[in-house]
Parts: sequence; structure tokens; C-alpha cells
Amino acid sequence: MAARIIDGRAIAAQLTERISDDVALLKERHGITPGLAVVLVGQDPASQIYVRNKVKKTRELGMASIRHSLPEDASQEELLELINRINCDPKIHGLLVQLPLPGPIDEASVIEAIRPDKDVDGFHISNVGLLSRGKRGVVPCTPLGCLMLLKHELGSLEGCDAMVLGRSNIVGKPLANVLLHENCTVTIAHSRTRNLAEQCRRADILIAAVGRPALVKGSWIKPGATVIDVGINRLTDRNTGRSKIVGDVDFQQVSQIAGAVTPVPGGVGPMTIACLLANTYQACCRIHKLDDMPDASRV
Ligand code: NDP
Repeated sequence: MAARIIDGRAIAAQLTERISDDVALLKERHGITPGLAVVLVGQDPASQIYVRNKVKKTRELGMASIRHSLPEDASQEELLELINRINCDPKIHGLLVQLPLPGPIDEASVIEAIRPDKDVDGFHISNVGLLSRGKRGVVPCTPLGCLMLLKHELGSLEGCDAMVLGRSNIVGKPLANVLLHENCTVTIAHSRTRNLAEQCRRADILIAAVGRPALVKGSWIKPGATVIDVGINRLTDRNTGRSKIVGDVDFQQVSQIAGAVTPVPGGVGPMTIACLLANTYQACCRIHKLDDMPDASRV
């Protein structure tokens, strides 16, 4: 039987509509407009597209968005000075530095320079610590988006066996923590994991975040499992030069066995950006201590 397709675009559209209403209410009740600053260093084409999208979507929801561009050869000191200025700007509630950073700039020092309550990516060590303790901090956008998709599909995740493929700091590890707080039994796999297929076959929930095109095969899936594909891999046809985006999951095979699966594109990607908007609105409410406002990431 073919799996249900989890429509990330539609779920993200519902979420952004809700955030837009919350932002309007925030302005009406408190006269405050949430503001996001996005910092781009260099000319990386993919990063430029991501930044343009983030700024555009933020403005569409009625929030303020400012883009700061630094040249490829900007020094770490210049970047840290800019971050410090944004940290002190009362009109800005969310600050993100587009990764990866070029050249010799130390990414970790840059992330640690961001004020934790404005760190809408949730990468600052304080937010990482809060998440691992199960406390309220900022949850990184992609893991938060995956959680929302899973809850939309399954409701409660309590007691589910969850397999997280990938252990990066931006997806795999925070996602494992998020699922643990939902009372899943979590396994994290990586490039050194033995018997990967066999381990995956035990999972009620399988999330692939490895960056390997179509790594996850149909035979790795427990019948009826829910599969979330985080991967974004660009494949270029040698003959035509045309390129397409594929996930980490072999969609044709997996959709014959799974109960539900996210497509690529149109699954996790739209949720990641919607969650950035939710985190920006939420940061604004937290900074101004507005307890009377709705929680944008409610599921
Ligand atoms: P990283 O490269 O930082 O991490 C990849 C992880 O996958 C590592 O833990 C690595 O293991 C593991 N891995 C690699 N190959 C294998 C394998 N053959 N078997 C098992 N594990 C393997 O990637 P990210 O976490 O940053 O991103 C993962 C994917 O998600 C990428 O395709 C990225 O483009 C996409 N992405 C999508 C987003 C979205 O919005 N949809 C947002 C962020 C990322 P080890 O640690 O041992 O090296």
C-alpha cells in the first residue's frame, strides 16, 4: 500500500498563517513589531538564496527584517562588531548568521557572540544546554519543523521507537533531544553505526539527516513507519546538465512500505523557514516578557 505523503508545504502554510495572526495581535495589543536581522558573509549563491527567502518571508508576515551583507574577506572582528551592534538594537529580536562562513572565521566564536535570547537558530551553547535539560530555550528550526510534522501525522509520540540518522549539531543531536522529551525511545545512528538497515527496521519513526542521496532503502523500513526526510542533495545529470534536489530517502521504494513519508522538496524544507519565523515571533514575546501572547510553535 502506498504511504501517505506528509505535505510540508501545506502544514508550513497553516503555521505561517497562524504566526501572521499572532504578529498582528502583538502589534494591536502591545504596539511591538518583531524584527529579524540576517547576516550574510560573502557571495555563496545558495546562501544568498536562503537569505533572500528568509527576509522575504519575514516581511510577508508583517515582521521587520534587515539584511546585513559583509564581503567575503571580512574579518572576524568586523563580524563580531556587527553582531554586538545587532545584539544591542532594541528593534531586533532575532539574529541569525547564515552558515557556512567563508575563510578563517571561527563559526563557534561567532555563534557564541549572539545574545542567546536573540539566537533564533537555537545554536548558541546556552540554548543547546537548555534543550538538553528539557527547559524552554530556542529549539533549532529544522528539528522543530520535524517535530511539528510528526505531531501533525501521529499526535502523541509517546513510547515510539525513533531512529535519528545523523548526529550533526544543527539537526541530528537537537532532534534526538526533542524526541526524547516527547517520550520516544531514541537511537542516533551515524557513519560508524553497525547493521544500519537492521537498526532502522525497528523504528516506528525514522528521520534521515545524512546528506547522502537515497541512502535509506525500502528494505530498511518497518511496515507502517513514519519517515521524515531532512536531506537536501543536488544531483546534476551529466548529459543534460540539469539538476534536481533529492532527499536521503529512496522515495519510490520507501513510499511502498512506510505508513507516511515526507517528500523532497516540499517536506521538511518549508517547515524549517516557518519555524524560523515562529522562533522570531517567540523571541520577541520572550524579550518583552509578554506572557499573554499565544505560543507560535504550539502544535
Ligand atoms: P552533516 O554533514 O553535518 O551530518 C551528516 C551526518 O550524517 C553525520 O552525523 C554523519 O556521520 C552521518 N552520515 C553520513 N553518511 C552516513 C552513512 N552512510 N550512514 C550513516 N550516517 C551517515 O549534515 P547536516 O546534519 O547538516 O545535514 C544533513 C542533511 O540535511 C543534508 O542533506 C542537509 O542539506 C540537509 N538539511 C536540510 C535542512 C532542511 O531545512 N530541510 C536543514 C539542514 C540540513 P558522522 O558524524 O559519523 O560523520
